[in-house]
Amino acid sequence: MKYDVVVVGSGPAGTVTARFAAENGAKVLIIDRRQEVGVPVLCGEGVSRKIDEWGMLEGKRWIACSMDGARIYSPNGTCVTLSAEMAGNETGYVLYRDIFDQELARQAVKAGAKIMLNTNAIDLLKENDKIKGVKAKQFDCEFEIESDIVVGADGVESKVGKWAGINTTLKLKDLETCCQYTLSNVDCTDAYCDFYLGKEIAPGGYIWVFPKGKDVANVGIGILGSLSEAGLAKKLLDKFIAKNSRLQSGEPIRFLAGAVPVSNPIDTVRDNLILIGDSARQVDPITGGGLTHCLEAGKIAGETIGKAIDEQDFSKDFLSIYEEGWKEAFGKKIKRNYMVKEILLGFEDKTLNMLGDSLKDFKFEEISTFALIKALVLKHPTLLMKLRPLMKVAKEA
Ligand SMILES: Cc1cc2nc3c(=O)[nH]c(=O)nc-3n(C[C@H](O)[C@H](O)[C@H](O)COP(=O)(O)OP(=O)(O)OC[C@H]3O[C@@H](n4cnc5c(N)ncnc54)[C@H](O)[C@@H]3O)c2cc1C
Repeated sequence: MKYDVVVVGSGPAGTVTARFAAENGAKVLIIDRRQEVGVPVLCGEGVSRKIDEWGMLEGKRWIACSMDGARIYSPNGTCVTLSAEMAGNETGYVLYRDIFDQELARQAVKAGAKIMLNTNAIDLLKENDKIKGVKAKQFDCEFEIESDIVVGADGVESKVGKWAGINTTLKLKDLETCCQYTLSNVDCTDAYCDFYLGKEIAPGGYIWVFPKGKDVANVGIGILGSLSEAGLAKKLLDKFIAKNSRLQSGEPIRFLAGAVPVSNPIDTVRDNLILIGDSARQVDPITGGGLTHCLEAGKIAGETIGKAIDEQDFSKDFLSIYEEGWKEAFGKKIKRNYMVKEILLGFEDKTLNMLGDSLKDFKFEEISTFALIKALVLKHPTLLMKLRPLMKVAKEA
């Protein structure tokens, strides 16, 4: 088998890259070890309205709910409400993630890409250290797929990067351990995504309640690996649900557990190789959201691959067009939010309560991050020392 590009992984990072590579003239094969694209779902399914601007998805079947805004609860229950415009940056829609992934895959196929399911990448194919494709296994059959470029879109547990010699190891402090119920028979009559903060509620992370309909919601938790222990995420989530009057009558129709990388960016190109999506650690370290970045980076990757094929140049230098592109688009935001994550980790629940109290009546649309922090300090001058590092980061942004 010989292709221009083999994409390992049929998640959004893989299929969007495949689509744009195919549209730009590449002969593309996507392989995935799953038997159905997008299944099982491992996601809170919240996504920003930004995706509308990119026009990559047809129809609306992938949308479960449109959100009117978001609410953030501090540990003592103080609620800060974000308007649709403000919250839309992160929580515009709640998805049917399986349909979303399948729609992106359909677009890739429409552009000419081929897909092989039940197909596990087991190593890179190399000749004198040069990457020439992947070794794959389908059921009991092992075979080689030659290609000029391999795209590692194989998610948080990525092996492709490691096989290419990229250090993809995640420290426990850069990994969120997550679990989530989809609960039916709950009260979700208003279309708000809710976030609950606090060291006791979710150490180093948060609990989310994302409505998928009037009586169905994704209720999940992410806690930092370095603050976790076996079974803790589920225990904390169960405790939260049992105490919450909107949720306690709920029954699960789905349960999932997974992990999200919340690290600094890593190298994403080598000769003949590109990493993208969770495998490239392109996730927002504060929210743990990765979907919009997959779409944004996927377009840049696919277009870069098209140019590489035109020039027949698959060197790391040439493929760096992709790395420069995604770093320009959202790499700075990831770096900044990583610093903010580290600062927020040092905040006690008492400080979070003071922040909630200061922000509860705030008109967010009218204000920048820097001005927001200044206003916080005016209301609670004792926060000055704690917020000083945050002010520095906001000023530099
Ligand atoms: C609990 C949870 C909640 C989340 N909630 C949100 C949210 O609300 N909003 C948001 O934006 N993001 C969320 N995320 C993050 C989001 O799901 C990821 O950023 C996104 O799925 C990354 O897409 P991807 O294409 O890089 O990888 P994935 O979607 O993980 O796809 C990787 C694919 O590679 C395949 N694969 C892996 N190894 C191999 C191999 N060796 N051979 C063949 N195939 C292979 C897998 O089967 C999989 O299909 C959440 C994540 C978790 C775990």
